Amino acid sequence: MSKGKLFVISGPSGTGKGTICKELLSRSDSMRLSISMTTRGPREGEVHGVHYFFAERDEFISLINEGGFIEYADVYGNFYGTPKKQVEAWLDDGDDVLLEIDVQGAIQVKKNYPDSVLIFVLPPSIKVLRERLEGRGTDSAQVIEKRMGGALGEISLIGEYDYSVVNDNLEEAVEAVEAVIRVEHLKLTGESAEEIAGRYRQEV
Ligand code: 5GP
Repeated sequence: MSKGKLFVISGPSGTGKGTICKELLSRSDSMRLSISMTTRGPREGEVHGVHYFFAERDEFISLINEGGFIEYADVYGNFYGTPKKQVEAWLDDGDDVLLEIDVQGAIQVKKNYPDSVLIFVLPPSIKVLRERLEGRGTDSAQVIEKRMGGALGEISLIGEYDYSVVNDNLEEAVEAVEAVIRVEHLKLTGESAEEIAGRYRQEV
């Protein structure tokens, strides 16, 4: 069985990348979403093991030292990381895995998994991004300012990505990401030319 593919989705917070990921998962039986570990405290409604694995700083650092993360980064003063074990098990089972992580993490993933596919979700404009963050009502004015500054920095690193999708309309954005996933599966990267030709030769 061929291995699954690793898809990374990033973009400034407020671009709707979380909603896009949720939609992708509900429309596919072979796509898994990695649950990150973070040292940030849970927001209202967030559940341990569903939205994140919430951890203390020393627990997080122990896992870094054990080589337990595919990638990790300090985002707005908190650690966030992708635990390695589950992701590799899914890939070995032939499932695709979606990582919703920041730009620093995406760059590490590409380095360690060159076949991974990096997709950047853009907001239609900075004005819309601000409106979405304010409308969400989950962050203080100070945090929103920090995230707005961070957004421009993240967008300036878009050159590290393979694809970009503007989330103006959710349905169109989801369809665009689905198209990327389909195309990536058609690429001749998994099986070697010799293996493919060999399968056909056997039939002759
Ligand atoms: P939030 O605090 O809003 O849930 O997430 C803040 C940022 O951290 C988002 O850009 C999110 O994509 C990113 N993030 C979440 N999990 C991970 C992770 O495992 N690794 C990295 N590098 N970034 C993450």
